[in-house]
Amino acid sequence: MAKKQYAIIGMGRFGSSVANALTDMGFDVLAIDSNEQRIQEMSNIVTHAVSANSTDEEALRALGIRNFEVVVVAIGEDIQASILTTLILKDLGIPTLIVKAQNELHGKVLQKIGADKVIYPERDMGLRVAHHLTSPNILEYIELSDDYSIVEMRVSELMVGKNLIDLNVRARFGCNVMAIKTGTNMNISPDATELLRQNDVLVILGKPEDLIKLELAYPK
Ligand code: ATP
Repeated sequence: MAKKQYAIIGMGRFGSSVANALTDMGFDVLAIDSNEQRIQEMSNIVTHAVSANSTDEEALRALGIRNFEVVVVAIGEDIQASILTTLILKDLGIPTLIVKAQNELHGKVLQKIGADKVIYPERDMGLRVAHHLTSPNILEYIELSDDYSIVEMRVSELMVGKNLIDLNVRARFGCNVMAIKTGTNMNISPDATELLRQNDVLVILGKPEDLIKLELAYPK
């Protein structure tokens, strides 16, 4: 099977990190930026690095952008350029279009004009850091929708030697323990009578406000 090809537009901190990571994973990456110097910096890293203005449809066509299965638009500050670029790419029929949003309103516009996935890297990282500060046991925080999130929580000192019946998080916090990780082993149908060990990790689904109550109940 042919290797998936990715085009990343905008080599700011976020776009260049995505381009770097995909290259490290062995994928072909086309990096595009209107800033010649940014392109120079990427030219030794990615498969192709090209200086072009992504609001220029002809320039994008000439780069063969239509052959790319996935395009990431990582233009932040120039919201107009981000929206125009997204519109052009959508019209060109890119199968998967992932776009970075600067704020909620920008994100809404991107969604309306057909971005397949809108990402908010700063907001998401801010949320993660805030949850980690609430409880150092929080290893990961993933927003599934406006209403539900998932946290990965290391078993707190207060939980060791107890089981899920003792913890009773469904009744106490309205959250569900979906899985328990022990080392590299992930048990996706945890036995409610099994005693929790130090270093086990709970994967918990719930509403953000309920997850916060649970985190605050287990500060260490
Ligand atoms: P980060 O936070 O990831 O560093 P940012 O949100 O501050 O990025 P910008 O610096 O505004 O985003 O934009 C990222 C990159 O996108 C810049 O290198 C900029 O040159 C490039 N860029 C902006 N407009 C265009 C455009 N129309 N065509 C191509 N590249 C563009």
